Amino acid sequence: MESTPSPAGSGADRSPVLNLIDGSWSAASTEEFLPIVDPATGELLGSTPLSPASDVAAAVEAATRAFPSWRATPAVDRARVLFRLKALLDANHEELARTLTREHGKILPETMGEVRRGIENIEHACGIPTLMMGDTLEDIAPGIDCESIRQPLGVFGVITPYNFPVMIPLWFWPYAVATGNTVVLKPSEQDPLTHQRVVELAMEAGLPPGVLNVVHGGREAATALLEHPDVRGISFVGSSETARFLYAKAAQEGKRVQALGGAKNFMVVLPDADFDRANDAIIDSCFGSTGQRCLAGSMLVGVGDAYAPMRERLLDRASSLRMGNGLDEGIDMGPVVSRLHRDRVVELIDQGVAEGPDLLLDGRGASVPEYPEGHWIGPTVFEGVTPEMILGREEIFGPVAGLAQVSSLDDAVELMHRVHYGNSTGIFTTSGKAAREFRYKAGISMIGVNIGVAAPMAFFPFGGARSSFYGDLKAQGSDAIDFYTDKRVVISRW
Ligand code: NAD
Repeated sequence: MESTPSPAGSGADRSPVLNLIDGSWSAASTEEFLPIVDPATGELLGSTPLSPASDVAAAVEAATRAFPSWRATPAVDRARVLFRLKALLDANHEELARTLTREHGKILPETMGEVRRGIENIEHACGIPTLMMGDTLEDIAPGIDCESIRQPLGVFGVITPYNFPVMIPLWFWPYAVATGNTVVLKPSEQDPLTHQRVVELAMEAGLPPGVLNVVHGGREAATALLEHPDVRGISFVGSSETARFLYAKAAQEGKRVQALGGAKNFMVVLPDADFDRANDAIIDSCFGSTGQRCLAGSMLVGVGDAYAPMRERLLDRASSLRMGNGLDEGIDMGPVVSRLHRDRVVELIDQGVAEGPDLLLDGRGASVPEYPEGHWIGPTVFEGVTPEMILGREEIFGPVAGLAQVSSLDDAVELMHRVHYGNSTGIFTTSGKAAREFRYKAGISMIGVNIGVAAPMAFFPFGGARSSFYGDLKAQGSDAIDFYTDKRVVISRW
């Protein structure tokens, strides 16, 4: 334990981020650390400790101790803490976004948007006194009444990915604590700094000790959370492989679980589309966040005559996107999060080339002279991609688009159903009839009609289908209230 710990670890000392256990910031019990690096400049920003299972156990113990009194705190008082947190986040919005750009790489307008989306979840959770109400029916039999009340369950574990490190934890823990549960959060080990600041503000807002605990680390800490007998449920977001493993494991341990996985999203353009507007949306969808978005459209399907204008506009804009440090003015696209991830994306492109589609735009050799240490990869576009090719079926999580041409809307739907993911899709058309038909047949959870990134807001559920989601109740919206509460039914006769 340090005497005057700095939670963020992002100060001048570049010290490791600290865990938060029972309201105290404390050093993890480990000598193993991963560096946190600015992906544009290569500057070392701090480090993440790989906390062992014993730190997770201490956090779960603290959360278990905090549960009875937090549960007994009236919902309005729990909501007031979140109202104060919302005000603090609003006041620190830009500072948070700047830190996020430095540790993640996405451009400032994108990080401003991510923080905004996170705050919206707090705003939604502030409505907990209403959201958590139950139901009553008098005289279910003569003189007998029945009521259903929602009660919190105890300690929840939250395990989150690197690509939205501020927003995604806020899909979960504000709802968990608003409903009276306590939480142990294990953020991504790659970019934990900004959310660390969010947690600091939550403490400043008056969240009592032990209600929200944070343990930094990787697989060992996540597994310890998953296996701990006092953890009642797990909220997870990450790759499909891990989501599927975690879903099975958590279910085996008798826990509630919601596990959101990866994606391969198809965007379909019809001949009657407004091609300029469609292209604006598609460019943002493919190359926004440098392709590191579970809602990124990475397969672009032109139906019939739509193909040529779609292709021409896409190539024109994709080849003129300005890459650079996301804190600089006029930049369209930042670096990817790490050198390792850059190498993985390049490797996938190499494998894709070997399968034979035409490479129309190659981002592999991209560089930004002012930032020689950045993890750059430029917009990359392939033509003639099928769902059987690696580029058509794997989640690349980089600025890589595959183009395909089909002859009908049905063919487009059939094409996307050959891929096992089902997170999001989109159609671009001026025909309401075609849009309705697409919505009806898509079989995918988040659908955009003339929208490139179909991201549901906080009061709607967020989550996919097929191997993009394992569970029943999704993130956000009323699903969050259902996930974090049990409906208990009382039948009374007096
Ligand atoms: P990841 O799966 O590598 O890691 C996610 C989290 O799981 C991290 O906290 C990590 O430490 C932990 N983890 C890793 N391996 C684990 C294991 N074997 N057991 C337990 N925990 C483990 O994902 P990532 O690279 O950080 O994030 C990118 C992925 O997340 C992409 O696949 C993306 O599509 C997905 N994602 C999905 C959504 C969605 O809404 N469906 C949203 C954002 C990101």
